[in-house]
Amino acid sequence: MGRRVLNYQITKLPDYSITKFFLNLDDTIVAIATPPGRGGIGVVRFAGPEARAIATPMLRLKHDLEPGWAIFGELVEPCGSDSPVPGTDHVGTGVHARPAERSSAIGRTGVSTPHRSGTDTEISRAGAPAPHSSRIDEVVVTYFAKPHSYTTDDIIEISAHGSPVVLRHIVELALARGARLAEPGEFTMRAFLNGRIDLTQAEAVRDLIESQTLYQAKVAAQQLEGALSHRLQPIKQKLVELIALLEAGIDFAEDDVSVLPGKQILQHLAAIRGPLEQLARSFAYGKIVHEGLTLAIVGRPNVGKSSLFNCLVERERAIVTATPGTTRDLVTETVSLGGIPLKLVDTAGIRRALDEAESIGIKKSMEALADADLVLVVLDASQPTGKEDEELLKQVAQRRAILVMNKADLAGREPCGAGAPARERSGPIEFSSEEPAGSLSKGMSALHKTVLTSALTGEGVPELRDAILRDATGNAATSAESGFLTNARHQSLVSHSLAALNAAQVAVENRVPHEMLLLDLYNALRPLDEITGATTNDDILNLIFSRFCIGK
Ligand code: GDP
Repeated sequence: MGRRVLNYQITKLPDYSITKFFLNLDDTIVAIATPPGRGGIGVVRFAGPEARAIATPMLRLKHDLEPGWAIFGELVEPCGSDSPVPGTDHVGTGVHARPAERSSAIGRTGVSTPHRSGTDTEISRAGAPAPHSSRIDEVVVTYFAKPHSYTTDDIIEISAHGSPVVLRHIVELALARGARLAEPGEFTMRAFLNGRIDLTQAEAVRDLIESQTLYQAKVAAQQLEGALSHRLQPIKQKLVELIALLEAGIDFAEDDVSVLPGKQILQHLAAIRGPLEQLARSFAYGKIVHEGLTLAIVGRPNVGKSSLFNCLVERERAIVTATPGTTRDLVTETVSLGGIPLKLVDTAGIRRALDEAESIGIKKSMEALADADLVLVVLDASQPTGKEDEELLKQVAQRRAILVMNKADLAGREPCGAGAPARERSGPIEFSSEEPAGSLSKGMSALHKTVLTSALTGEGVPELRDAILRDATGNAATSAESGFLTNARHQSLVSHSLAALNAAQVAVENRVPHEMLLLDLYNALRPLDEITGATTNDDILNLIFSRFCIGK
């Protein structure tokens, strides 16, 4: 049988030099699949034709390995080697891994009868080691037979106690018996190259592992089930059908196959573009779900920025004092708001600085304001609006911002809260003349949504959360939509496809020959194929899988 070899490039950090080497997909690979450090359990994963043969000698099992079953046993020195494998009894080998995805199982996994008998002689010799081999650990071993495994290879997973020494030893034993250390993402890359998953699903594995909120994890899991591919498939199908019709018109022109009239071609194009444009629009929401948002809380000293920050974070994180100008450094915290990671930045109060430290703090506040996706401008509802407030509002006039009128409890008005109609609105706040905050010019507040809060009582804070979430997601897709675009690579490819479809439309309108029109249509199809990986090149694979960690 010919050996399958992928010409694969890895970018070595930090010098970014490219090292070209060949990955042999028929090797048996091994890696620690659980995160570095000590834990209750650690898993070492083997994949490849020799997985079983390499693992068996280091195992003394209660039963023979059976596909899809977890078998209890012991990790022992392999037969004929009561002494450790040379070079294994040291600390700090390069063998390491980061979090792994779900177990390699595709189907249900059973567990063998628990074994706690204790003596070596009571354990059947399902594995090869001699009965007297010294025990290193108790383990549970799961075997996934080819092709019903994560990579479609034979896979063995040894779950030992989470001791880095033990896990490294398993890897060293496997290497000594001919296994190769897996490259970052190689398990998932094999799953892709062996056709078990497409590229969007491989990327979803990474997104699932890296998810910061449960909602992000659910979105990644949908993509892992193929949600995006399912959404793309009918679009591609229509495009391929149009290409086939036009090709037939050219190939069989002499056989009287009718050439599609321009009007009909335009109808076909519209039917392809519509859902593709809808998919492209979903990125506005998908990007936020995937990357989250940065929200800067700005305002004069003492208006209650840190208190609001703590309310939103739901714990005492920022220091709250009655002395103006105490927050001098940026305090950041990431929270999940409706499943979207929201990085909150509490900034130093913006005013004319009294000392150098404060002036540095204010400079940082301005930078945070510039970098934020969304700004909360906090004003003190119980105080007349000062020049500094007006200055700040001018600065955010063109930005996505929410005005927060805090200290509503002091302003002699009832803040919006449970039961009360939310005092949240778009446009000017209607202040009565005796209210101090009425000095805020209506023009200033007209641009932004305004929410009335009391960080002291917590009233108005749920409404503020809602306002942030609505502002963040805008009119973009709702969470009910599945298979939306979350990934910049996919978004850029969809844009390329749409550009080619536009070019095709122009070509039809200009009555260019169908041979030329087909070029545009193939240009529209290729990027869609690149999303799922139907056509791709090594550089793209490198870019995607080098961001995985070892063991995935
Ligand atoms: P910052 O300088 O803008 O971050 O303001 P802080 O959060 O440090 O708050 C300044 C002072 O105002 C503290 O004494 C807070 O307890 C108080 N404060 C903050 N929010 C409110 C509020 O909504 N109502 C009242 N009555 N006091 C508040």
